[in-house]
Amino acid sequence: AAVCAASVYIVRRRMQSSGKWARVIEILKVLEEDCATPIGKLRQVADAMTVEMHAGLASEGGSKLKMLISYVDNLPSGEEHGFFYALDLGGTNFRVMRVLLGGKEGRVVKQESEEVSIPPHLMISGSDELFNFIAEALAKFVATEGEDFHLPEGRQRELGFTFSFPVKQTSLSSGTLIKWTKGFSIEDTVGQDVVGELVKAMERVGLDMNVTALVNDTVGTLAGGRYYNPDVVAAVILGTGTNAAYVERAHAIPKWHGLLPKSGEMVINMEWGNFRSSHLPLTEYDHSLDVDSLNPGEQILEKIISGMYLGEILRRVLLKMAEEAAFFGDSVPPKLRIPFIIRTPNMSAMHSDTSPDLKVVGSKLKDILEVPTTSLKMRKVVISLCNIIATRGARLSAAGIYGILKKLGRDAPKDGETQKSVIAMDGGLFEHYTQFSESMESSLKELLGDEASESVEVIHSNDGSGVGAALLAASHSQYLEDSET
Ligand code: BGC
Ligand code: MG
Repeated sequence: AAVCAASVYIVRRRMQSSGKWARVIEILKVLEEDCATPIGKLRQVADAMTVEMHAGLASEGGSKLKMLISYVDNLPSGEEHGFFYALDLGGTNFRVMRVLLGGKEGRVVKQESEEVSIPPHLMISGSDELFNFIAEALAKFVATEGEDFHLPEGRQRELGFTFSFPVKQTSLSSGTLIKWTKGFSIEDTVGQDVVGELVKAMERVGLDMNVTALVNDTVGTLAGGRYYNPDVVAAVILGTGTNAAYVERAHAIPKWHGLLPKSGEMVINMEWGNFRSSHLPLTEYDHSLDVDSLNPGEQILEKIISGMYLGEILRRVLLKMAEEAAFFGDSVPPKLRIPFIIRTPNMSAMHSDTSPDLKVVGSKLKDILEVPTTSLKMRKVVISLCNIIATRGARLSAAGIYGILKKLGRDAPKDGETQKSVIAMDGGLFEHYTQFSESMESSLKELLGDEASESVEVIHSNDGSGVGAALLAASHSQYLEDSET
């Protein structure tokens, strides 16, 4: 009888555990279906993007896409010269940089930069605290200026400020913060002129500098990209956050009531991270992530594409598997309950694990979640999850780019024309998450078709946003008239 009872017990255990495994597979399958991005859906997303672009250009507040006017109506020509500073505030780090521009022949003669990580508490406290920290770091950097960077007698240092959040510009060198995104939430900055905030902080630390240009990172990347390649028509950031900017014809911007620029063009900061549409494939995890976020209801596209969130989506799926299907055994690993504990670089490292026993996946799960052992079967599930989540983001970013090309009429080859369209890209997700960028590029090709793909090129504009801001500072220098005469 004892033997019999024991075997019944074993059978029951097996049934339970196979039931649990079936539940794991079910959760996986549902996720896969909810995240599906067949080509037809991508085309719908791209078309919805184009429609919203028109609406956002037509009137202020006409769309979820703000289509912000950058006041950049002249992209770098290559003739910019002189010595300029740039400051790049966006994700988890900020960068200070100085650049010596050599004009037509020399280009960037010399460049020095330093990266400073922002203490997390400064992202959610007061405006003065954040800007003081930035101004102090900038002052320290200025103090290390060597002889190579020579400032003509009596001149003030000039700075291009890359500020990677939605700003309503009031001129090229001023603009008010519409809202924070990504990990930032500082209420008293919203509605303020961010250049004013920076200038006040610089005064507090005794730094004398003129902020000549205020640009979004996408606009900086576009400027930096154009400096080296005249065919650059748009820039896309796939990093902690996501966004795109492109060159629009000024007369296609009904809400622009200013003078028609000489170039006939205006760079538009789309703020595409805030795009949403019934065509977007959203899951229960996206809904709960959004509800729990610093900015519920906002930046929906960003929350399914960008680096700040991909790892967090993965965590949420794993948590459901742990709770409902005992994925990690009888108890849920406590660490798995900590929001944002799985960072996207970790997800990327697991996703690119090609070892036969997936040992990177095993060791990451051990390090991050403190689960001592995992079976190969489990690690394979984790790879599948990474793949589903990253592929959706990558394909949707391709759809966004395709939407821009459609808006520009550059999505199909024109008879007898050989115009090239180059997209300047930057951001950690694009740069470091290989599966993501490969999927993005192949999806874009799939959308464009063979022939049109020939005329569209995606390039990496390394650090373009910083150099771009310096270039725009140069072309809007207060000393321009002097140096030209
Ligand atoms: C911001 C954009 C920025 C993008 C990439 C988004 O969260 O709203 O202004 O360009 O992140 O840094
Ligand atoms: Mg950046």
